[in-house]
Amino acid sequence: MDKLIDTHAHLNLHSFKKDRYSIIESCLLNNISIINVGTNFLDSKLAIEIAEKYNQGVYASIGIHPSEVEDDFDFSQLKNLAKSKKVVAIGEIGLDYFYPSSQDNFVEKQKEAFLKQIEIAEELDLPIIIHSRDAFDDLYEILKTRKLRGVVHCFTGGLKDLERFLSLGYYIGFDGIIFKTDLDEVIKNTPNEKILIETDCPFLTPPNFYDKRNNPMSLKIIEDKIFEIKGENISKQIYENSLKLFNI
Ligand SMILES: [Zn+2]
Repeated sequence: MDKLIDTHAHLNLHSFKKDRYSIIESCLLNNISIINVGTNFLDSKLAIEIAEKYNQGVYASIGIHPSEVEDDFDFSQLKNLAKSKKVVAIGEIGLDYFYPSSQDNFVEKQKEAFLKQIEIAEELDLPIIIHSRDAFDDLYEILKTRKLRGVVHCFTGGLKDLERFLSLGYYIGFDGIIFKTDLDEVIKNTPNEKILIETDCPFLTPPNFYDKRNNPMSLKIIEDKIFEIKGENISKQIYENSLKLFNI
């Protein structure tokens, strides 16, 4: 059985409150490792607590999602969390211009939070997991002057965006969105050694999955679709990419 890593799961979210541990156990039995990704301080902390229950196979990424940015958040709290050995990345962080916000200067606040978290990643030498929605240009402007490594998660950009982030060395994360948006050309043009797979569960459930609420067991469906588009099985390569980026 191939080994897989769900590089972007949210089993730390409330919708998995009752059964997250039984889901994790099924995943581990099926050779699926998991990185649970934080979106705010509390669920980042929970992602670590979950990971710390396991010797191996379950990891955490910590960060404040652009839609969860709050005034006066003390980012040193986040840096303290990163002391756990289970923390393999800072994220998800980035820019999200999709949802109109009632907050003043929301774009500026997002950029400020993104920069503060980038600094933590640089200081701790951790990769970043980037969330970008309708914000690829601004994101590129910020990242092109920095020397970071990471993944653009749930990639939905075009070939020009792909080219830009590949040129900076970033990995590209694909999930169930590939069943909703035509990303065939993007996938074909992403070198095998830059592809990561993820579920973004409980969101983005692939078609024909047994549960409407997504979980990391759907990873194989996503991977198979990528093989179909690529015309080859690159499972081993994708697995190695994940180990390399997250230093697992
Ligand atoms: Zn996510």
